[in-house]
Amino acid sequence: MSAVPAAHPHPAMRAGSAADAVRRTQHIVADLHAELVRNGLVVWTSGNVSARVPGTDLLVIKPSGVAYGDLTAETMVVCDLNGARVGGELSPSSDTASHAYIYRHMPDVGGVVHTHSRYATAWAARGEPIPCVLTAMADEFGGEIPLGPFAPIGGEEIGHAVVATLSGHRSPAVLLRNHGVFTVGTTPRDAVKAAVMCEDVACTVHLASLRGQVTPLPPDQIDALYRRYQNEYGQR
Ligand SMILES: [Zn+2]
Repeated sequence: MSAVPAAHPHPAMRAGSAADAVRRTQHIVADLHAELVRNGLVVWTSGNVSARVPGTDLLVIKPSGVAYGDLTAETMVVCDLNGARVGGELSPSSDTASHAYIYRHMPDVGGVVHTHSRYATAWAARGEPIPCVLTAMADEFGGEIPLGPFAPIGGEEIGHAVVATLSGHRSPAVLLRNHGVFTVGTTPRDAVKAAVMCEDVACTVHLASLRGQVTPLPPDQIDALYRRYQNEYGQR
């Protein structure tokens, strides 16, 4: 952990509405990390949430290697969209360059989540996408949860793999081979929801597969379910 402040504070970090947006986003991202713990998606210090700061070219992300119980809004690290730290005192997550790559290449994405949640990561370890065999999968993912390639940790390569794989899919979740799960959302809360739902269906489809073959839903049913859930479900 580095305790050295960023050398040149970003203009948005000084004062005014952008600085307020940064602080609000730090609170949101800190609270969402607690959701990863509450939903059993992470162990020790693995996993992370980031959010694009609305109205700025900044992101907020978890510090590297800090225990979940020690995370507060103030410990959330502020970076530019090249992954360089511009605020906060701790070093950002080792996945920051990949999160930044995703924000640069997916302009509608406002939040990114990474976990090694158990059942979804078991599918990643086997190198298999999760077939769309449940209405809940059609609703949330609009099809299978796709498998992306293995990519080394620390640079932008994981971001390349996520963007390349999700570009051809409606799914907000991708399994990275031999690694874990990345999810995206319009908001960071949407990305956390996708991570929770991904683990839930990964578990159910795994259990079903133990008992025999599972049958994918027909594409027209998947389309109808996806449309209904995305456009009509819930309070509007
Ligand atoms: Zn990881």
